[in-house]
Amino acid sequence: MNRRSFLGSAILFPLAIMAMSNKEIFELLSDTENNNTMPALFVGHGNPMNAIEENEFVTGFRNMAAAIPKPRAVLCISAHWETKGSFVTAMPIPKTIHDFGGFPQSLFDVQYPAKGSPVLADETKSLVKKAEIGLDNQWGLDHGCWSVLKHFYPQANIPIVQLSLDYSQPPQYHYELAKELYQLRKKGVLIIGSGNLVHNLGKIDWTNMNKIGFAYDWATIANEKMKNLMLANDHKQLINYRSLGREVELAIPSPEHYLPLLYVLALKQENENLSFFNDKAVGGSLTMTSVKIESV
Ligand code: ZN
Repeated sequence: MNRRSFLGSAILFPLAIMAMSNKEIFELLSDTENNNTMPALFVGHGNPMNAIEENEFVTGFRNMAAAIPKPRAVLCISAHWETKGSFVTAMPIPKTIHDFGGFPQSLFDVQYPAKGSPVLADETKSLVKKAEIGLDNQWGLDHGCWSVLKHFYPQANIPIVQLSLDYSQPPQYHYELAKELYQLRKKGVLIIGSGNLVHNLGKIDWTNMNKIGFAYDWATIANEKMKNLMLANDHKQLINYRSLGREVELAIPSPEHYLPLLYVLALKQENENLSFFNDKAVGGSLTMTSVKIESV
């Protein structure tokens, strides 16, 4: 490339990005005239094989996607992206990340080619005052996100941005940060937290992974206790989940699959409804219990 054409493309490339971004900005902001507030969801993603298997959980994902308005974009908080500090993915084309091992090649072959949204990344960054949100160009879509969204939007035609979990911060921090994201729901953005309510892989009975409804007693007790606190709007106890007793301690041996739930609960307004779907266990120590928050 000669000097002139190099300079030409160096000038044109940012202009092209700016033009695309302005269009996206328009699309995101134009929804404010429409007073619909998007629901917010917590989804239990469970076994990565759910991405390519047919079972009642993936049917539950499809049914939920059909029951809610089509979003302009998705902001996903996945258990599988933990960072020091908080980041949003800001690349226009996020790669599909196969962040697991020991699964069949057919799972590694899955690509979920949804676009990113640099504009939504910028907007998320500017909305959050609690923390400095970094713009990330390295990550992509991890399986906490794509294994579920593949069933929600099989055509991969909704742009997706991921928000990371800052592993150095306590539960209260995540809850407060998430409150600042509420405006996005009014702009047609579907916020999804992806984890599992009861998630103890050390105690899982792999031979019973396909036996839907199989749960240890402590897993059932923990699941019900957390659901009842959600229904009672008792977020304080859910934030202080380490004080909820032995069963919940067993259900949440590490915080990453639980924290995405706090992001979704923080987005619930006083007059909104909370309901459950896919509320069943597999493998004894894993529940797929998912939560929908919506305006009434
Ligand atoms: Zn997971």
